[in-house]
Amino acid sequence: MTTVAAYAAPAPKAPLERTTIERRAVGEFDVLIDIEFAGICHSDIHQAQDGWRPGIFPMVPGHEIAGVVSEVGSGVTRFAVGDRVGVGCMVDSCRECDNCRAGLEQYCTKGGPTWTYNDTGKDGEPTYGGYAQKIVVDENFVVRVPEGLSLDVAAPLLCAGITTYSPLRHWNAGPGKKVAVVGLGGLGHMGVKIAHAMGAEVTVLSQSLRKKDDGLRLGADHYYATGDPDTFEELAGTFDIILNTVSAPLDFAAYLSLLRTDGTMVNVGLPEEPVQIVLQSLFGNRRSISSSGIGGIAETQEMLDFCAQHGLGAEIELISAAEINEAYERVQASDVRYRFVIDTATI
Ligand SMILES: [Zn+2]
Ligand SMILES: [Zn+2]
Repeated sequence: MTTVAAYAAPAPKAPLERTTIERRAVGEFDVLIDIEFAGICHSDIHQAQDGWRPGIFPMVPGHEIAGVVSEVGSGVTRFAVGDRVGVGCMVDSCRECDNCRAGLEQYCTKGGPTWTYNDTGKDGEPTYGGYAQKIVVDENFVVRVPEGLSLDVAAPLLCAGITTYSPLRHWNAGPGKKVAVVGLGGLGHMGVKIAHAMGAEVTVLSQSLRKKDDGLRLGADHYYATGDPDTFEELAGTFDIILNTVSAPLDFAAYLSLLRTDGTMVNVGLPEEPVQIVLQSLFGNRRSISSSGIGGIAETQEMLDFCAQHGLGAEIELISAAEINEAYERVQASDVRYRFVIDTATI
């Protein structure tokens, strides 16, 4: 076991504070990673504040982890000391079910994967995330950060990047396709960059035109305010894919009317309350409404390679650990462009 400095929420809704945690000894197939950067995902805040389900406390959030391998177990074949690596939302799964075998570990049918934090590992111990100086992870749940991609801007790709890449890939975003990204936040700004790099024609649908210049700079071809009712008339029947990154409840009928025939609205922002869908919104044009959760490990590697090839990193505000609580407040106020990343050397 190794004692590691970390930032933890001691109880639900309590401010995060510096503490120490124990990491397991490096096992045969484990990699010890010296964490350099950890992104702050909105779901960190949900979980630290107990919004989704009763959490495990103290909680060390963080599932956008980038660092350097500092030790490997005797059976490790894929990584060596000094490799630049990342860890996302999962650190294990059953590895035997159909989904795990198909590279869809995030949809593991044996009770889901082991989440990077706020979960219990196969050893019965709680998992602790990336707001820490080191982490021990099985090599099969570690991905490589390609040369050319800085670790600080790579960290948010491990959740925000794959959460947007996977559905865009699955629903075939590319040349000739029109993609709308709803919300220009941590997820949305990566959705715009990735959809643009895939060759799609990209439209941002945001409440106001406040971030229009940013949106166009990030790769959007068009930018509309959803606060303006004319937007919904003008864009009726336009999109092949609507990627909704907003977790607040929306007028789904209005957004579904923007899909062309066979279009899909995929929701990666999840409201806490049930939503109502009027099926007539789908009926007329064989439209679909769907959702998608992160991506598998192989697809996460594919996403990092894609981002490196296209020079895509997250837009970040680098902060020290002492600023985490303030950053949480700013994320909740949508006051971040576009991802806070913790310099874990400051923990
Ligand atoms: Zn996340
Ligand atoms: Zn499985």
